[in-house]
Amino acid sequence: MTTREIRVFGVVQGVGFRPFVHRLAETHGVAGYVANKGSYVKIVVAGAEERLAAFRRELVENAPKRASILHLEERETDPFPGIGFSIVESEADSGSRFVSPDIAICEACREELFDEDDRRYLHPFINCTDCGPRLTILDEMPYDRQRTSMKSFPMCDACAAEYNDKASRRYDAQPIACHDCGPQVYLLDGSLRGAEAIRAVRRAICGGKIVAVKGIGGFHLCCDATNEAAVQLLRERKHRPMKPFAVMVRDIETAEREAKIPDTMCAALDGPEKPIVILWRKKGGSIAPAVAPGSRRVGLMLPYTPLHLLLFDYPDGLVMPDALVMTSGNPPGAPICRTDVEARETLAPLADLILSHDRRIRVRADDSVMEVYDGAPYMMRRSRGYAPLPIFLSSLENMRDGVLAVGSELKNTFCLGQNGMFYPSAHIGDMGDLGSVECLRETASRMASLLAIPPRVVAYDPHPAYHTAKFAAELGLSTIPVQHHHAHIVSCMAENGRTAPVIGVAFDGTGYGTDGNVWGGELLLADYKGFTRLGSIEPFLQAGGERAAREGWRIAAGLLPGETVLETALRLGLGNEEELGAQCFLLENKINTVTSTSAGRLFDAVSAALGLCRTSTFEGEAAMALQFAAEESDAAREGFDLPSIHMAEDGRILLPTTALFAEIVKQRLSGENVSALAAVFHVSLAKMIGAGCRAARDRTGVSSVALSGGVFQNTLLLRLVEQNLRKNGFEVLRHRMIPANDGGLSLGQAVCAAARMTENK
Ligand code: ZN
Ligand code: ZN
Ligand code: FE
Repeated sequence: MTTREIRVFGVVQGVGFRPFVHRLAETHGVAGYVANKGSYVKIVVAGAEERLAAFRRELVENAPKRASILHLEERETDPFPGIGFSIVESEADSGSRFVSPDIAICEACREELFDEDDRRYLHPFINCTDCGPRLTILDEMPYDRQRTSMKSFPMCDACAAEYNDKASRRYDAQPIACHDCGPQVYLLDGSLRGAEAIRAVRRAICGGKIVAVKGIGGFHLCCDATNEAAVQLLRERKHRPMKPFAVMVRDIETAEREAKIPDTMCAALDGPEKPIVILWRKKGGSIAPAVAPGSRRVGLMLPYTPLHLLLFDYPDGLVMPDALVMTSGNPPGAPICRTDVEARETLAPLADLILSHDRRIRVRADDSVMEVYDGAPYMMRRSRGYAPLPIFLSSLENMRDGVLAVGSELKNTFCLGQNGMFYPSAHIGDMGDLGSVECLRETASRMASLLAIPPRVVAYDPHPAYHTAKFAAELGLSTIPVQHHHAHIVSCMAENGRTAPVIGVAFDGTGYGTDGNVWGGELLLADYKGFTRLGSIEPFLQAGGERAAREGWRIAAGLLPGETVLETALRLGLGNEEELGAQCFLLENKINTVTSTSAGRLFDAVSAALGLCRTSTFEGEAAMALQFAAEESDAAREGFDLPSIHMAEDGRILLPTTALFAEIVKQRLSGENVSALAAVFHVSLAKMIGAGCRAARDRTGVSSVALSGGVFQNTLLLRLVEQNLRKNGFEVLRHRMIPANDGGLSLGQAVCAAARMTENK
């Protein structure tokens, strides 16, 4: 007879791990107990050696689907005096914590949902140990019903029996609920509840109306995606003329009817995270053009809550559309609405009906969004289903102090880190919105307590005008500034588990440079602790302040050669004489101008010069239009013949982007095809980046390149750059599950700060 204590670390909470251990112990006839310790699950087992060995083997091999075991610690311990096996009450302990993300409804629950004989037939909150809300209903760790939003719903006898029955799929399932004891849906105007409310919402959708629906991590605005007029109405009400909407399709068959789904992506689309996947549309689909104007792509996701399934299927005789627009219920840049009060304030003017429910959302989680690159996920927004799973960096295992990185100004996320574990948060929003700053404050403090990481140090972006910098200062902790593009590159290194120095290609919209200028087309030599600026695209003058970020025509005017600006700008159709005259005046007299090396702005300028997008209605619109135009051109292209890279006075490498722009303008004016020019622009820029990296390698001896920054959301450019670099013998590191855009910045900031702290010890 031996007694062993096994500690299991990883995502083992809220995934049916304890009941699994219980069943396993009974199968093998070992005694003992299992307890949830917050940071790990503790198992004490007593029995004959060979029984313990079998138990131990199956513990790893047959662990529940959603569990992910990071490591096990095992030791012999004092003899266990009891008989039988039990689950003992949770008690918190210190150490790294793992909070499960939310999990989409599982197949077994889906079947019960539509089984007339099941007692949860059509119950909008059906779930089990394999599925249901987790992070978004969590108050405190360890994960137990009493510490979630389910506290207000005492279990009925039938649910309690399942909860306590080892043979049940709902043994120890914390959010367990049924018609008798669970939460209820209702219309926010108070008129209808339960089944009546669901029917009313379905009727409204069929009638071309706009509804708001409370989901897992917040409210969605929803309408019939196959009804052009309904989608247009939503665009008008949301003041969102162009930005694509995500579409929830009834099932994978509908998804296949609408879009080409690479075999390798079915698992991601239909997996337990249920992200939005951006796919190529098929001809002859039913989704209205207004869903994604001017784009041949569409973002699809599958239903992930029982309530979503009921919107598509309900025994009320209605024939529902099999595709619904599902867009976050929030003003642009603001956090997604999660309470009835917020919904009443901001969504009531947009939606004809609001379907809410009384299970509270504690932590917001927007839908995650990914593109497909090389047949695999390429993350754009890492949020519901993924947050707050950690990234582990063994090189920083000894960082004892907690770090909070407050992230970027746009697409904000924050990141908590300790002991080499880094937990990037769900999407927060744009910090220009006061609600987002409040959401950052509230969510960061909630996550710090859930993960038991009291921050000692705050990492932030030193841009003097950023709300995040102000927020960081207000926390009263010691602060570490991390340059924007350095953070991007370190985020990419961390995702790839790389610590040795790399050449970083950081191409994005705007970041505050150490010289006070706007950076954004940078070549850096970087490691976790610091960086040197090796090169950049050629600097240009950016005039017009804030507006320059949305109005590509202003940047284009600034990139045109001095003498003939006005004339050329008029011929390109960049604006009327008055606007252009005013812009030229600002540029000539350097009024309200900044020196910029922003690659994002270069894309905006080219997009405007080619007549694709003069002014953006959302961030990234001009660059997307340019990428789409380039993708329309099928022929393989050579880049322009351009001057080679050269050196600035301070010795940094300069990519000849001014000449590239001039060549585009020249060819456009001589009548060359716009798509072809868009394609050649991409190829030429990729070649320049390749040449820049070769010069950087000659200088430093480093032959690994990390690609990061929002411009690398452009998968066409990414492919061209990656091909060029590999051909030239570079190792290429790029993002996969952490966004290349500012949503991934907080991870880089946290890792930089952690590396500097460990250095100072
Ligand atoms: Zn389930
Ligand atoms: Zn019940
Ligand atoms: Fe950035």
